[in-house]
Amino acid sequence: MLRVALPLVALTICCAGAFAQSSHRLSVPNVADDTPIQIRVAYIEFSRFPTISRETLSRLIDASTNVAKDKFGIEIRISELVILNADAVAKRMREMPEQITINELSRSYTLGSSKISLKHVLEMPDSIEQCLRNNGIPLKKLVSFVQLPEEKNFTYQELAEYLTAVAVKRYELIANDSASDGLPVVGGTPYNEWKMWQVLGYSNLPYEVVITNQPILSIERDHCSIHALLRGGLSIGGTTYSKKSKFGTYALFSIFPFVAENKGFLELNRGKKFTASEIGEYAGAYLVHEYGHMLFHLGHPFARDECVMNPAPDLNVRAWWASRSRGKCPIGSSPQMIPGAAQLSRIEYENSNKMLNPDP
Ligand SMILES: [Zn+2]
Repeated sequence: MLRVALPLVALTICCAGAFAQSSHRLSVPNVADDTPIQIRVAYIEFSRFPTISRETLSRLIDASTNVAKDKFGIEIRISELVILNADAVAKRMREMPEQITINELSRSYTLGSSKISLKHVLEMPDSIEQCLRNNGIPLKKLVSFVQLPEEKNFTYQELAEYLTAVAVKRYELIANDSASDGLPVVGGTPYNEWKMWQVLGYSNLPYEVVITNQPILSIERDHCSIHALLRGGLSIGGTTYSKKSKFGTYALFSIFPFVAENKGFLELNRGKKFTASEIGEYAGAYLVHEYGHMLFHLGHPFARDECVMNPAPDLNVRAWWASRSRGKCPIGSSPQMIPGAAQLSRIEYENSNKMLNPDP
């Protein structure tokens, strides 16, 4: 999945007491001369959530390189693989100016709570509608992706209201499940927040790919990943600016959707559990979706079931891969498959660039 930090056009947003900020387009990396493409990977393991064996992790990575070769014709080599824990994330986040982290996290509707406040529920349709209108995807394709009956001629407003209702219900279903310590999945830390992982890219994080078993479960007022909303704000992955990645972005990938066995999650995921072998196969294939964002800045060709860049609308990754594994979807074969379509960007905070981009 792709999480674009902010609209591309340079803009200035001022939040209460926050930094003025603007966003700047990132250029597509030139990987043609970089063969094999060397990638550094970190697996960040959180003790509160199910994990995978090192063997399954290797299987996942091997599957990703095989699928990347098949779908994109590229050779990827993992030059470094490290295992980290929550302390490593906390250390990196401490490098960031606290005000910037707070500023970004303040855009979350879900921050720190397994229940979304009524105030935020009432705000969500308008912000989702505005975001849907701005993202350049035709309404008809969005309705088709959501699998609503097209003949009803849904408006943006009706679609936004539908997405709000689904997102809130499913968010609370997953967020209120118990983690291994008996406490709710969400609460007490910002690790579930996409915004926290976005800010992490501005720290000295020296990896192109970060895999974690932490659920990335959050809903924000300034962007609308339609597939994440359909899953209650649960992301499988995200590609965002990274100061230390040699490609300018890093791919975040959560295996939580593949390993979770919580009641709420399984209800959303149609009750199916994956074997270790399936985790390696499906998660590895889905990681290639993030490679497509990171290496080519590809977008989302909604309604093309043969494309790995078409995200899973729900968490039925088995069905997602069944159609993608058979299909051909070459780079350049549709507007969203043209390099640069994703329009990835980097935020700059006025008067604070030195803090956001400190020298190594
Ligand atoms: Zn994506």
